[in-house]
Amino acid sequence: MIKFLDLQKVTQKYSGEIHDAVSRVIDSGWYLQGEENDQFEKRYSEFIGCKYTIGCANGLDALIWIFRAYVEMGVMRPGDEVIVPANTYIATILAITENGLKPILVEPKLNTLEIDEDLIEEVITPRTKAIVIVHLYGRIAYTEKIGALCKKYNLKLVEDNAQAHGCMFKGRKTGSLGDAAGHSFYPGKNLGALGDGGAVTTNDEELAVAIRALANYGSQKKYVFKYMGRNSRLDEIQAAVLDVKLKYLEEDNAHRKMIGKYYIDHINNPHIYLPNTLPEEQNVFHLFPVFCERRDELQAYLTRNGVGTVIHYPIPPHKQECYKQWNELSFPITERIASQELSLPISPVLTIEEAAYVVNVLNKWE
Ligand SMILES: *Cc1c(COP(=O)(O)O)cnc(C)c1O
Repeated sequence: MIKFLDLQKVTQKYSGEIHDAVSRVIDSGWYLQGEENDQFEKRYSEFIGCKYTIGCANGLDALIWIFRAYVEMGVMRPGDEVIVPANTYIATILAITENGLKPILVEPKLNTLEIDEDLIEEVITPRTKAIVIVHLYGRIAYTEKIGALCKKYNLKLVEDNAQAHGCMFKGRKTGSLGDAAGHSFYPGKNLGALGDGGAVTTNDEELAVAIRALANYGSQKKYVFKYMGRNSRLDEIQAAVLDVKLKYLEEDNAHRKMIGKYYIDHINNPHIYLPNTLPEEQNVFHLFPVFCERRDELQAYLTRNGVGTVIHYPIPPHKQECYKQWNELSFPITERIASQELSLPISPVLTIEEAAYVVNVLNKWE
């Protein structure tokens, strides 16, 4: 059986160093807001190419804190509009509605799977305050046109970089392309912790200071509370683990790219469609999505033949019960992606032999 993602094997790869790092924290007697966070935040800022990294509890919180800080700073007010791709993972949208802001859903392009830059300008209103781009599947979502629209209309550009650690646009890393970015270190992500973790990256000092306080009960000074914040911190053990894994992220991404290229070069089943192929620096292959009209049949066939797959994502946000008010809206491309997408196994530990087996099984399907 080829697992969709063998996390045990992923962790085993750096097992010695990870055990050492965790032991160091255990023995230190210091478990929160210490040297491990300082170190990881510094290294992550260097990696992304930004001034500030603020560790927090998870990727959803990272995105929530960005919008909450903009609200606290007076940049956004409840009821303001935020443009967001309709096919994103629901966390992006939850972060907007959590802050009383209004998500304006925009379709992706079928060949890129990322927000359609040509549909953005027509939904901009005087209440629009931000565009969120989501580098979904590890693929670049930024375009120069989106950057220009943000300038023209004075909008914040927020990146959801949960799936794209290490992805680049013209030599600059995602997470440094806009005003602020939310990152997730959920175990299965390209840079994954051994539990939950997240971070915000930004060059905006005021935003960084506000987020650091918000994620720590709203406090900048011990026992003095500026905001009604929450406890949303990255713990020292996770920071230490992330610091180990960050060293190998480029190597891990190179392996993902090698597997991705192998799939692209060898999948030739006429029933299966792939999204467009991007320049190497613009795709870190967090996932390898393929499309098929008889997707569920294909998934069952692959399961029978020992290949694990996952659908990202079977129900789009506007069809979810939590967003009943949008259930009647129509986003045909988003809905088509939800009904035809299937993610093949890909990871830093999937071997080329395993990829060859997947391709062989896939190409035989009729
Ligand atoms: C994983 C993910 C998140 C949320 O991250 P968590 O750490 O799981 O809270 C947000 N956005 C996208 C696109 C994701 O894939």
